[in-house]
Amino acid sequence: MATQHDLLRNLPKVDECIKRLDQFVEPETPPAIVKLAVQRCIEEQRRRILAGEVVDELSDIAWIQLFRTEIEKQKRPNFRRVINGTGVVIHTNLGRSLLSRKAAEALMQAGAHYSNLEFSLDTGKRGSRYSLVEKIICDLTGAEAALVVNNNAAAVLLVLETLARGTEVIVSRGQLVEIGGSFRIPDVMAKSGARLIEVGATNRTHLFDYERAITPETSMLLKVHTSNFRIIGFTAELSAEEMVQLAHKHGVLVMEDLGSGCLVDLSRFGLPREPTVQEIVKAGVDVVTFSGDKLLGGPQAGIIVGKRDVIERVKKNPLNRALRIDKFTLSSLEIILREYFDPIAALQNIPTLAMLTISADKIKKRAQALLRRTSKDIADRCVLSLMSTVSRVGGGAMPEYNLPSWAVALQPQDMSLNAVETDFRQLPVPLIGRIENDKFIMDMRTIQENEIAMVADILVGYFGKGPVL
Ligand SMILES: *Cc1c(COP(=O)(O)O)cnc(C)c1O
Repeated sequence: MATQHDLLRNLPKVDECIKRLDQFVEPETPPAIVKLAVQRCIEEQRRRILAGEVVDELSDIAWIQLFRTEIEKQKRPNFRRVINGTGVVIHTNLGRSLLSRKAAEALMQAGAHYSNLEFSLDTGKRGSRYSLVEKIICDLTGAEAALVVNNNAAAVLLVLETLARGTEVIVSRGQLVEIGGSFRIPDVMAKSGARLIEVGATNRTHLFDYERAITPETSMLLKVHTSNFRIIGFTAELSAEEMVQLAHKHGVLVMEDLGSGCLVDLSRFGLPREPTVQEIVKAGVDVVTFSGDKLLGGPQAGIIVGKRDVIERVKKNPLNRALRIDKFTLSSLEIILREYFDPIAALQNIPTLAMLTISADKIKKRAQALLRRTSKDIADRCVLSLMSTVSRVGGGAMPEYNLPSWAVALQPQDMSLNAVETDFRQLPVPLIGRIENDKFIMDMRTIQENEIAMVADILVGYFGKGPVL
């Protein structure tokens, strides 16, 4: 056993390690990465020696192994693809919606080539980026005009700042929602410079509540989709039509923050009935905002639709420039929107919609396919089983609603569940699942058809021949 002093003194020198490593690293590895990795490993070993965790010197082979593992880690991008086995379709932490194949291609084109982002091909003069999608949004929603900004939070802020700064905005107490990531209606309202007038009770707000609160200072009635929570039992709130009727009688505007903003009625597939954007527009609401990457299934964006004169005012707000979308959003959003011209195909082509409407039977087949590919190879180290489970819509949409689904459940035989879960998170393509009843659950609703083989390889690699790290 070496003394701490000896251990520290005998730590290898960075330059020597780099020289020795030469034959072990892939030739295209940047020297800076090799140096960084070597420094990290030696520092970490020094820390462990000082913490009294080391009793013997590492062999040369052990050092080389450490260096190589660290080099691989350093070469990997921090931002990378993962496999979503959580069953949460619009998983905000895992990137919400996946683009359709065509939309992903459009995004690559926008990145790799010049484009007519702000150039009118008709006139040869400067054009507007917004005009590339405005007409399509109007055609799909029935709105007179539209504008797209960075996300729905930005959309709400921009609209309030334009139309309601220095005035009163009336909101039902049952709709003062916090979305998460510190987006709260009262806070956004304060930032916009509008004064929030709360009316009604948490569970019930009536027409007379709004009517009594309207003063000469009132600029609008705001309806907010409660998204991530639900008040059940003895409840009442106004429909969009009722709010429009009341507001217009008093010469004030109606805004609705729809949150998810669905363009197709998903209740045919057994999901809860959500008002579509078209219905809200038709009800006469002056301005509607919704997300691009929730139920719409597109890129992150905040879509604002409404009456022409109202949208024109919003467009002219200088804040709009600060919240503008880039060419990647624009290119992929246009293609996602175009998918909706064929609603039946959209349900297949837009992954968010496909995952929400896929039948439980098909999910079960996926689970069985994964079991067939894996079970017998790794049976001595883990037990895999078919399990019925429930998935979630996610993204704050349709909370509490359980989508019947199927999962592959994994029980390791000779190691802890937490170790497996951690190791899966560290893979080159991490596999994210959930732990439930002492099992690692992979919900096959959110694991794509073409990922089944990858998951099988991960499981066989990990349990068949030891960890694949
Ligand atoms: C999700 C949501 C937002 C925020 O939308 P982002 O696109 O995430 O910025 C705002 N309001 C409601 C009601 C929501 O559900």
